[in-house]
Amino acid sequence: MSEPVLALSGVRRSFIQGEVTIQVLRGVDLTVMPGEIVALLGPSGSGKSTLLQAVGLLEGGFDGSIRIIGEEAASLDDDARTRLRRDALGFVYQFHHLLPEFDAIENVVLPQLVKGTDGVAARDRARALLTKLGLEARLDHRPAKLSGGEQQRVAVARALANQPPLILADEPTGNLDEATSERVLGEFLNLVRGEGSAALVATHNERLAAKMDRVVRLRDGRLV
Ligand code: ADP
Ligand code: MG
Repeated sequence: MSEPVLALSGVRRSFIQGEVTIQVLRGVDLTVMPGEIVALLGPSGSGKSTLLQAVGLLEGGFDGSIRIIGEEAASLDDDARTRLRRDALGFVYQFHHLLPEFDAIENVVLPQLVKGTDGVAARDRARALLTKLGLEARLDHRPAKLSGGEQQRVAVARALANQPPLILADEPTGNLDEATSERVLGEFLNLVRGEGSAALVATHNERLAAKMDRVVRLRDGRLV
């Protein structure tokens, strides 16, 4: 039995607003195995983004245990946490967050250069990923010259560029019309499966969630 890529135990998060404390996560437990694609389903405001931010090691303020490829996040210093983020995680957000002054292929090359991959290999990998997503004719387009669906495809390729064991996706097609959303999500899932990465994908859409290997629901701050 292999080790989980993600193990959450008793994860809690509350926000203080004035006199009121809002408890958003009230003890989340979750295990994701290598290659497993898990839908994190919940209505708007249920805490999906808060949970993905915790797993993404972006922000402190959480209680409980978050283990990513066996490493306990709370026990890492800033450098080690940054390294774990870079080496273990890929991110796709609702809005693409591509670098506007770089073209599609450069947006997928850059994270590989940051990790130390040689430039030629990085370009080959970026081209291969973008081609699998049907963007072979868009490699030298800047984000502003791409449609919303194309922008999200580039964001998907960027997230997978360094072959992270775990992809975190927060409503990755939430910004697209229904037909495009369905198509881009299907391509994303195919690519993630082909690469063998695991993924935790937040969505409020039951139909999209049903395409994944397993669905977990956020309800009253816990997963059911
Ligand atoms: P979802 O992604 O499922 O829509 P969020 O995780 O964004 O839900 O938000 C969950 C709850 O936490 C909401 O009530 C939201 O207002 C609250 N919340 C999120 N971030 C903050 C913050 N930085 N400060 C105060 N409240 C927050
Ligand atoms: Mg959200």
